[in-house]
Amino acid sequence: MHINELVLDDFKSFGRKTRIPFYEDFTVITGPNGSGKSNIIDGVLFALGLARTRGIRAEKLTDLIYNPGHEDDTERSGPREASVTVVLDNSDGTLDRSQVVNAAGTEDVGDVDEIAVKRRVKETEDNYYSYYYLNGRSVNLSDIRDLLAQAGVTPEGYNVVMQGDVTEIINMSAGERRTIIDEIAGVAEFDAKKEDAYGE
Ligand code: ATP
Ligand code: MG
Repeated sequence: MHINELVLDDFKSFGRKTRIPFYEDFTVITGPNGSGKSNIIDGVLFALGLARTRGIRAEKLTDLIYNPGHEDDTERSGPREASVTVVLDNSDGTLDRSQVVNAAGTEDVGDVDEIAVKRRVKETEDNYYSYYYLNGRSVNLSDIRDLLAQAGVTPEGYNVVMQGDVTEIINMSAGERRTIIDEIAGVAEFDAKKEDAYGE
């Protein structure tokens, strides 16, 4: 499974609907400083609900909505809604139909060769709302999390290596480094379950 395409709509610096293709093996994004490269990665983390633990670069969710006067805080015009869709190529059958149906809570998920995970954030006068969709069906974050975990994508995981992560790993103590290796190897999950079982 890999990302096929990312669709950003009024997300951070992407003030108009932007489609970014990803290739199966390797995709490199280049551009000048401040042109939005890291914002693209933030988009992936945001849409897949991985943001909280992997440090998305925004103080609050509504900062992620495109703001034409971003540099000066005074101007706050423009749309107050952002969305990001991550289109996953599942043609290798990493996730089977029943897993997707289960997560969506309906048979009506279309073709699962492609899995579209979409997240929207909407700001109202005194609040904001966040919505998740799986192949167009409204779902909860936990549904997305559970489904992605079955494909080996977890918030604690290292599917995304952020700027600074490598240095951090080098500077860690042996014990801390071991924790990361356990996570990558998938052992940590069983340790946690064991702890839970002892707790009960
Ligand atoms: P570098 O090479 O320095 O890492 P980059 O290509 O990764 O740069 P980003 O950090 O992705 O750049 O983009 C930063 C830009 O995004 C800044 O110019 C910032 O003003 C803009 N930006 C961030 N949030 C918003 C927003 N909500 N609305 C409009 N622009 C935004
Ligand atoms: Mg960057």
